[in-house]
Amino acid sequence: MKSVALIAALLLGAGAAQAAELPFSKERKEWNVPHRPFHIIGNIYYVGMTGVSAFLIVTPRGNILTDGGLPESAPFIEKNIRALGFKLADVKILLNSHAHFDHSGGLAQLKKDTGAKFYASAGDQPFLESGHITFGPAEKIDTTPIHVDHVVKDGESISLGGTTLTAHVTPGHTKGCTTWTTSVQDGGVTRSVMFFCSISVAGNPLTGVAAYPNIVSDYRASFARLEKMKTDIFLAPHGNQFGLDDKLPRLKPGAPNPFVDPGELPRFIAKAKADFEDALAKSKKP
Ligand SMILES: [Zn+2]
Repeated sequence: MKSVALIAALLLGAGAAQAAELPFSKERKEWNVPHRPFHIIGNIYYVGMTGVSAFLIVTPRGNILTDGGLPESAPFIEKNIRALGFKLADVKILLNSHAHFDHSGGLAQLKKDTGAKFYASAGDQPFLESGHITFGPAEKIDTTPIHVDHVVKDGESISLGGTTLTAHVTPGHTKGCTTWTTSVQDGGVTRSVMFFCSISVAGNPLTGVAAYPNIVSDYRASFARLEKMKTDIFLAPHGNQFGLDDKLPRLKPGAPNPFVDPGELPRFIAKAKADFEDALAKSKKP
């Protein structure tokens, strides 16, 4: 009896300690609050949660879903897809901005339920296929491993039903962080769209990272690359990165689409770059 009680106490103690240590415990509850799905522009729909995004790109030959949210987001994303009148089985391609649990965590379930092929970059492939990333705060949070059916190269374009998406590998936040671009037709006008990966430091160690020695040069190269890019519509893995709460109430028939803002990407990148350099300077102080 005594030993059973002791083992139980040890197990409970270990469980409690582990739960307390997990990063983002508070955030993931807030991020996973359900959000109503809606039409953004052209053939693009929002099907994500309050704090973590998922976008559905609809074509006559099937649909593309980018990002799977948290592991616990998958049923809500599926519900949102259905609520818009689309079928899960029509999702043919799954994409991922980057291999962090809050954007790739739901993908294994979504792949199983849709039968879609999963496309991801070589840089993030090992993390996605093992369910474990080897650096940054997310290394404590594993996800269900997901097989990469097609390894996407930098600059590669993929097409489905008349829609073409181009991959831009913008590493730093993760090794294979992938920004996707496409274009939509909006009332007779062609507009460029970016599904931004992310470039925040987000607790990533910037110095002495054995698992990612060139992290700083990767971040800087990605900033330089993103500074040269242009987009009319900037979409990102977290709603607060692209002003979801501000824009959605202004999305009204007959009014200019609030998601069209060519100034947003340069503003975002300038701020993120300053934040990165600040974090790097702090990390070098003894
Ligand atoms: Zn991330």
